[in-house]
Amino acid sequence: MEVTTNFSDEDAAAMVAELRGTFTSGKTRSYEWRISQLKGILKMMEDNENEIVDALRSDLNKPAFESVLYEISMLKSSCKVALTELKHWMKPEKVKTTIVAFPSSAEIVAEPLGVVLVISAWNYPILLSLDPVVGAIAAGNAVILKPSEVSPATSSLLAKYVGQYLDSSAIRVVEGAVSETSALLEQKWDKIFYTGNGRVAHIVMTAAAKHLTPVVLELGGKSPVIVDSDVNLKITARRIIAGKWGCNNGQACISPDYVITSRDFAPKLIDALKRELERFYSLEPLESNDLSRIVNSNHFDRLVRLLDEDKVVGKIVHGGHRDKSKLKIAPTLLLDVPHDSLIMNEEIFGPLLPIVTVDKLKESYDMIASRTKPLAAYLFTNNKTLKNEFVRTVSAGGLVINDSAIHLAVHTLPFGGVEGSGMGSYHGKFSFDAFSHKKGVLYRSFLGDAPARYPPYTNGKMNLLKALFGGSILGILRALIGLVGCRSYPKKKSE
Ligand code: NAD
Repeated sequence: MEVTTNFSDEDAAAMVAELRGTFTSGKTRSYEWRISQLKGILKMMEDNENEIVDALRSDLNKPAFESVLYEISMLKSSCKVALTELKHWMKPEKVKTTIVAFPSSAEIVAEPLGVVLVISAWNYPILLSLDPVVGAIAAGNAVILKPSEVSPATSSLLAKYVGQYLDSSAIRVVEGAVSETSALLEQKWDKIFYTGNGRVAHIVMTAAAKHLTPVVLELGGKSPVIVDSDVNLKITARRIIAGKWGCNNGQACISPDYVITSRDFAPKLIDALKRELERFYSLEPLESNDLSRIVNSNHFDRLVRLLDEDKVVGKIVHGGHRDKSKLKIAPTLLLDVPHDSLIMNEEIFGPLLPIVTVDKLKESYDMIASRTKPLAAYLFTNNKTLKNEFVRTVSAGGLVINDSAIHLAVHTLPFGGVEGSGMGSYHGKFSFDAFSHKKGVLYRSFLGDAPARYPPYTNGKMNLLKALFGGSILGILRALIGLVGCRSYPKKKSE
């Protein structure tokens, strides 16, 4: 078991040096080592499901249903995809070459980057910690994981079990907060994969810049939901609820942050949301065991501040109850809060859902574009034109039509943000790619050495090479005829 405390810059440097030694030895590159470590993660999840569920309950009061499905099962599925696909991912990819390099063959070889750092967040502390590690291992890297101190029970469980199930000469956990993370960020890494808020992302990127280290930043933002009137209302309400309150009580990076709908349709949507919320969480949602609590009192106070801002008072149309002693806030709907309110300008990351009305849904596009690009954007409609328009117009990390948050489970799609919601992506093959360098390799032989590329330079040679770069067969033939016709390459007067 490897729990790190009082972790200094020197400790960090020593640990990175040790892991670099392992990486340099070539151990992590072998297919067999990668497979054994991926199986180790799978076994870690299988053997310790109950303990993990308990830790998540202790950190977040996360319902066992959500812990088993959205943390453990999703992680296991990610391991299984990597185990099944790894051979194929590692295989050099043959690619065409160009006539300029004729004769030749070419391939792209994926090579591991080296020693990488994963810094994760508290809201899905198992998945967000180990899913990037799956990618790092699959790609053949050594990795240090720094889980979030905001979910301490899960962090200590990760430290305990990573030490027990995985190869500690190449995979380590460093527990801790700002000082430990700062010590780690002082080191030279081959990639930093950070999940969390945008403020710390600046710190991470500044540290990475010192060593020209590439980064993946998995951040958040205000993910909008546009709801058209041409929908199945009950399913729409249920799927918005599943992506919002059903995902850690709104404390998820891709949870719907606000809804945009037409003025006429809003009352119907609100009624449907209320009806389904009551069905799912009863009339006493603060007592429901199916809702996570707010992670800590800082976040509780932050959410209450959004709810109690003067300009927002009177806008609650459902919920609004809270209990600080239990860190619980009821699912809350607000209608037409002012655009300059805090709740419409900060990422909510909790159980509050403002509904904004517009005369025409087309106004949504400007509203979304006026903010930082979100991590996700959702549209509910049966209208084909609207779907096409939405996909063409809205820029976000990812889009979902007629559901919310579920794209996270589709490993064939890249998961990541754009602009303020992050950079880079992962999941499935994209995780392997995130931790690999794609090395282009061109194979030539000593046959077919073309004299045209060598001095003395002439117009004839230049015309031939220009034609080769241009790729037109006719152009190449013309240039060849020209070249044959001026074997002695006489210089023109003008040259
Ligand atoms: P957090 O408080 O757990 O912080 C994330 C990590 O940053 C932690 O490991 C923490 O120790 C470290 N950290 C904090 N302050 C630091 C500092 N000064 N210097 C160095 N490291 C520091 O999590 P959070 O930031 O509250 O997470 C919530 C945010 O993360 C939201 O914006 C959410 O949308 C986003 N998020 C994104 C994803 C995604 O996959 N894109 C997933 C989850 C959360």
